[in-house]
Amino acid sequence: MTSPSFPIEKSDAEWQKKLTPEQYYVTRQQGTERAFSGAYWDHAEPGAYECVCCGHKLFEAADKFDAGCGWPSFTQAVDEETVEIREDHSHGMRRTEVVCSRCGAHLGHVFTDGPAPTGLRFCINSASLSFDPTDSESDEAAPEPDQTDE
Ligand SMILES: [Zn+2]
Repeated sequence: MTSPSFPIEKSDAEWQKKLTPEQYYVTRQQGTERAFSGAYWDHAEPGAYECVCCGHKLFEAADKFDAGCGWPSFTQAVDEETVEIREDHSHGMRRTEVVCSRCGAHLGHVFTDGPAPTGLRFCINSASLSFDPTDSESDEAAPEPDQTDE
């Protein structure tokens, strides 16, 4: 395999300076935070989730669902170019790794047991994400008060 290059490249020392130890461990050393330990597994605000390393917008809150696994789970990324998918054979398992396409940060893994319509479950570490509540879907009109009887 050729070693991939990304638009944003920093040395380990630079990343270490920018990130918390846990963020560094997860994103730069392919770590996994403990289930139910992260900031976002149980987080349901509208907005967008960005790469904690480079600020690249990765996932919409609208695509987040509760998979009950203790990590933030999404049915899809913002678009196909947002993340890069790679085979991961570490720990004796065959998994599919998800990395940020802009800086190569390890985000988590994608599984094929997600809900319709994508059937995918992006299982992502909170430590890889930074949440932006202001970046919610802008093409949707502001919700109108619903006065009709249900
Ligand atoms: Zn990134």
